[in-house]
Amino acid sequence: MSLPERRADLRELSSYHSPQVDVPVRLNTNESPYPPPPEFVDAWLQALREVPLNRYPDRTVRLLREALADTNPFDCSAEQVFCANGSNEVLQTLLLVYGGLGRSALVFEPTYSLHSHIARVTGTEVVIGERSSDLTISPTEATALIAAKRPAVVFICSPNNPTGISETRATVEALLSAVIDHGSGILVVDEAYGEFSDWSARELVSDDLPLVVTRTYSKVWSLAAVRLGFAVGPTEVVANLNEFVLPYHLSASTQAAGLCALDFTNEMQKRVEMIVSERERLAAALGRLPGITVYPSGANFLLVRALGLDLWSQLVSRGVLVRDFSTRPRLEDCLRITIGTPEENTILISTIAAILEETNL
Ligand SMILES: *Cc1c(COP(=O)(O)O)cnc(C)c1O
Repeated sequence: MSLPERRADLRELSSYHSPQVDVPVRLNTNESPYPPPPEFVDAWLQALREVPLNRYPDRTVRLLREALADTNPFDCSAEQVFCANGSNEVLQTLLLVYGGLGRSALVFEPTYSLHSHIARVTGTEVVIGERSSDLTISPTEATALIAAKRPAVVFICSPNNPTGISETRATVEALLSAVIDHGSGILVVDEAYGEFSDWSARELVSDDLPLVVTRTYSKVWSLAAVRLGFAVGPTEVVANLNEFVLPYHLSASTQAAGLCALDFTNEMQKRVEMIVSERERLAAALGRLPGITVYPSGANFLLVRALGLDLWSQLVSRGVLVRDFSTRPRLEDCLRITIGTPEENTILISTIAAILEETNL
């Protein structure tokens, strides 16, 4: 007996992988260091008790979409909100509907690797754009590339994972104009870390512009385990996504979690402020260490370059796990450090300082 081979275009593709090691301090996956408030968990469980479990959930996700539209400071309607199992499912649905065979998706490397990975899984060709030496997107080069390649989907991640850098409004507007000019594409701005940033592309979303902005409950909302993300975009695009996503894809418990969480927006904001102030403390402390370069970050993590140290292994052996990007093209010697609790951050700083001191001896 023989089992079938996977699709030819998937044979060379390796799966998304984020190494996990069981160590005391884990600063590697950009989650929130804190669980959600216990009052949220109580409210969610209470809501779940009232769900008729023998029935399919609301296929239109009406209550959650209305609530998200109401909390959106940029005046959108429920018809402009699409919800899914994590923003990764939002991205996959966008690619299923707007990408696919004979179409391409443009990404600017280095960026979130799932943009190109999900594109390939959906049969969408990937076009890779480069960044300037400061790791921002050059509007001039990007618009030229969009005009030349006419990608069906253009991805921007802002703040960008793994660099932490936010693109400016001018850059997003330049790329949007280029997409409008070629007339058959859509610009997707992944704002998984948007709450940590000082502006949002959501303010540009309208029914007649090919722009979609994605958000997630996985980071600021402390709900990575729930798997909930959403997009804000033109009514017609959202209708298309809803038409082709699997029916009843969003469970009643996920919908309830998303709704209940919105009652705890103030707590979420406090966490954002705390993490931002810890980020600044960490950036300042690491920036003072010899041989360490810290990139500016508008997210809940820092990209750090430590020349020729093999810092990642040295940190793991001392019980601190961060994300290694040192073998990724354009990110030689780089690590990405998720902001943890103040205690974890202090351990990280002193561990790196100790490693540097020993290396100098
Ligand atoms: C973490 C992250 C996400 C989140 O994906 P979910 O499926 O919502 O958990 C999306 N985009 C980027 C850039 C991320 O870093």
